Amino acid sequence: MDRREFIEKGVLAAVGTTLLGACASDRQAKSNTQTDPAKMKQDMASHSFDSLEEKVSLLGYGCMRWPMIDDGKGGQIPDQEAVNDLIDKALVCGINLFDTSPMYNGGLSEKATAAALSRHPRSSYYLSTKLSNFGPENASREASMRMYENSFRQLQTDYIDFYFLHSIGSRIEDFQTRYIDNGMLDFLVEQRRIGKIRHLGFSFHGNKKNFDYFMSLHEKYHWDMVLIQMNYVDWKYATLNNKNATNAEYLYGTLSSMGIPVLIMEPLLGGRLAKIPEPLVHKLQERDPRRSVASWAFRFCASHPGVLSVLSGMTYMEHLEDNLSNFAPLEPLTVEDVDFLQDIAKIMMEYPVVPCNDCKYCIPCPYGIDIPGIFNHYNKCVNEGSIEPDSQDPAYRKARRRFLSGYDASVDPLRQADKCIHCGQCIEKCPQEIDIPHELSRIDHYAETLRRESGL
Ligand code: SF4
Ligand code: SF4
Repeated sequence: MDRREFIEKGVLAAVGTTLLGACASDRQAKSNTQTDPAKMKQDMASHSFDSLEEKVSLLGYGCMRWPMIDDGKGGQIPDQEAVNDLIDKALVCGINLFDTSPMYNGGLSEKATAAALSRHPRSSYYLSTKLSNFGPENASREASMRMYENSFRQLQTDYIDFYFLHSIGSRIEDFQTRYIDNGMLDFLVEQRRIGKIRHLGFSFHGNKKNFDYFMSLHEKYHWDMVLIQMNYVDWKYATLNNKNATNAEYLYGTLSSMGIPVLIMEPLLGGRLAKIPEPLVHKLQERDPRRSVASWAFRFCASHPGVLSVLSGMTYMEHLEDNLSNFAPLEPLTVEDVDFLQDIAKIMMEYPVVPCNDCKYCIPCPYGIDIPGIFNHYNKCVNEGSIEPDSQDPAYRKARRRFLSGYDASVDPLRQADKCIHCGQCIEKCPQEIDIPHELSRIDHYAETLRRESGL
């Protein structure tokens, strides 16, 4: 079944043509200028789930990108005052799912999230976290148990609503080591039985064969929900960037057909779908001038039935407010909108960006390389059209200047691509399976060529 057929048969059948069938003039009339928190809370799209008393908000708070400030000792800590403001606003406007992990924000996310949430009744929000026992030093039974128990302490709670095996799928052997050989999965199933964990699932990055394997375990472990990477680019093109990935269309379709609720990560591809190439921004604006670029990506995810929550890492108040305007209330995409976004995705695949979603799992690099910073700068220049392949192009000199000055401004010269020694230690940490040293070499070569031509 192709995507259009799937949406027409699945989505329209599930939600009725009045939702996805809304015409452009209907949409124009429904411009969302809502700012009253109580009304937003009432309008927030949400779903009932299992035996949970309150519906789960379709917009979930991804707590991996809290704003950070200097800790006064040369490090960084979450800006607790800002986190409190963001969480207060989210709760009052109807967001009630908060997803974190022991490894987010340099290991400080659970604590910062709980510090803000504990100022509110425990029954007013759902907590989601993960067993992030990556690496041999964390995968033993003892270390995994410590991580599990520590999450309860950090989150100041005696039960967790959603608990995930974190990022399984790239290698079955790792899953075996992290969850089977050490008995952790059996332990977690028991924790679910006694109510310490209310729902158990996994987050997935990997290929189709591995996904099918985890689905085959459903009968034994009963996955309550699965967290997948889904957005309008990965819907059909995830495997184009990473041959060891799976297109979201397949992941979502399989889970839907098995009746397993879907949670979505990376709806914005780490922010890349909020910073798309300029010509594509114009196309989106032409189609609906009221909508932000990011809103298209969120509504793509939220318009699919069977999606329990779309997790978004909203670092600043303006991100939160823009998202609230998309979900409270949600105005689902039409089938034509979805087709239009697929055309945009197809064009986007022609741009030579590095498929980095800024998750920061690869840092710190032992040699100090600012891997995500370098990729972010390069991608930004690609999207702005500052990377001109042809040195005869009249815009080439301007583009060259923009790339070089922006590079030094955004990435400390001591942490740039030329300092990478190709040790390869970062490769395994990247869920997008980017060949990081290779990409750094490519960017370094490009920067060096520009410098040489500029006489720098
Ligand atoms: S390959 Fe380069 S970027 Fe990766 S860990 Fe080694 S030095 Fe750091
Ligand atoms: S290179 Fe990979 S691990 Fe590093 S920030 Fe980008 S996507 Fe994440």
